[in-house]
Amino acid sequence: KPRTCSSSVKVLKSVYGEVDVPEQTLSQFVFADAHKWRDLPALTCGVSGRSYTYGMIQQLCQRGARALLANTDLEPGDRIGLLLPNVPEFTLAVHASLQAGLVVTYANPLFTVHELTRQFTSAKVRCIVTVPQLLELAQAVAKSLPAYDCTINIGGEPSPQNKILGLESLTSTEKKVDLPEVRSSDIAVLPYSSGTTGVPKGVMLSHRNLVVNIMQLLHPQLVEETDPLTFQDVSLTVLPFFHIYGFNAILNYLAKIGSHLVSMPKFTPQDYIKCLLEYQPTVLFVVPSLLLFLITHPEVTPRHLASVNKIFCGAAPLKKGLIDQFYEKIGRTDCTITQGYGMTETSPGITITPYNMPYSKSGSCGRLLPSTLARVIDLSDGHVVGVPNRPGELLVKGPQVMQGYLDNPGATSDVIDTHGWFHTGDVVYYDEEEYFYIIDRTKELIKVKGNQVSPTELESLLLEIPGVADAAVVGIPDSFAGELPKAFIVRKPGFDDMTVDSVQDFVTPKVATYKKLAGGVEFVEAIPRNPSGKILRNELKNLCSQN
Ligand code: ATP
Ligand code: MG
Repeated sequence: KPRTCSSSVKVLKSVYGEVDVPEQTLSQFVFADAHKWRDLPALTCGVSGRSYTYGMIQQLCQRGARALLANTDLEPGDRIGLLLPNVPEFTLAVHASLQAGLVVTYANPLFTVHELTRQFTSAKVRCIVTVPQLLELAQAVAKSLPAYDCTINIGGEPSPQNKILGLESLTSTEKKVDLPEVRSSDIAVLPYSSGTTGVPKGVMLSHRNLVVNIMQLLHPQLVEETDPLTFQDVSLTVLPFFHIYGFNAILNYLAKIGSHLVSMPKFTPQDYIKCLLEYQPTVLFVVPSLLLFLITHPEVTPRHLASVNKIFCGAAPLKKGLIDQFYEKIGRTDCTITQGYGMTETSPGITITPYNMPYSKSGSCGRLLPSTLARVIDLSDGHVVGVPNRPGELLVKGPQVMQGYLDNPGATSDVIDTHGWFHTGDVVYYDEEEYFYIIDRTKELIKVKGNQVSPTELESLLLEIPGVADAAVVGIPDSFAGELPKAFIVRKPGFDDMTVDSVQDFVTPKVATYKKLAGGVEFVEAIPRNPSGKILRNELKNLCSQN
């Protein structure tokens, strides 16, 4: 793949213009207006009811930053690893650490010792912040980390001989310590990409990267066009804070505008339905699979969603038709559904849909955020496509683009070319009004006799079959065609008599010959997905090779 492209061809610029970037650290920026909502709730655990006001959070973070430096051997610049479920204390751990000049990495608490050790070794973690339920896991990982200092066990017992500190040592100190000066160009967090297409990579995001991305969402014209949230909104989310969408576009963004966030440590239909009724959220942050749950679950009724007037969806393709199905379910259309597109490497936002987006553009992930440039290059020759409606790989430039992959200049130069364009690995096209449509990932396109087949396109089609609850398509190896599309389908309750033939009969007349499900159709109990809703296609491929 060519890493550089000629600069003479068309570059798309955001229709929103530019944003000014304050020279602030992430914590300074996020809590700049917190005094205005000091006594209002900031974060509540939807399951336990444990809640913190903005005033409490700010105070605990400031004290925490000092205590961290006073009570441990950590020094500014050291890395701290969060092994936490979605609890309100996640924010305390993040902002106390950042204010102490530490660099934060966070991981999925469902990871194995092996996966966690790989990430925390790569990030050179010296301290793990965790909760009693995960303490054993944390200690098993800590054992193999060089230069490890201590573990902080939030809500649990300290154990000085094992270098386990309680929350107390994170929030109080007698010693007088000065906080270091942190620059906005310093690295703030080291999130790891989801690992959908390979081993997760450590992504270096500076304070400025994260601040800019929130500023881009708060651009006055864009705010006017996206039906903005205010401090009066109540948001419900179960999306992980240990993923860039939950971390910056939900947790930090909502704190910046003083909104109340109700979070859940893990998803169960019963807890989610209970939170809908109990907290009457005005806003839901979802991924497509969660929207599908709201549409299809028989116990979710219009009454449960009566308070909701805004939905934000991102992280994975929102299949065409899902939005219509949702409106049908709730029996009204006065609830805006905003779609965002982005990735770990871009802090995460690249595009967003305005709420007055014409219906004909349904399925688009919107337009470029302010200060963001894009170009689309041909998949085979790398030349800029330069015209609407023609697919290619999306390249972006903007202040939200990462500083690089951690300790991996080779991987960095594979994605950031010599002209500073970041190669997203996503296949997209834009229309005449510069609305973007994500087709697939370059790595996930199925190649049938030299033709490219989009698994997402076939999945959208399969979801139109009455009785299909969920679907995923992968390419399976074939000695003649190279690859062939194979579908995995979850049937809705009551549709057990759906057959392979009936699925094939539905798809075949609607697609070009090479797109037919010639690799077969298999019915499964569930489609494997990661916590941010992405289909784990490699797992499905492995399933095929075992058969
Ligand atoms: P890895 O890079 O380690 O393989 P990953 O790309 O899944 O993992 P993330 O940074 O979490 O890691 O995900 C970003 C990707 O998610 C994007 O490149 C894109 O493929 C997909 N994505 C995000 N938002 C959307 C959206 N609105 N529509 C379609 N796809 C999306
Ligand atoms: Mg990626």
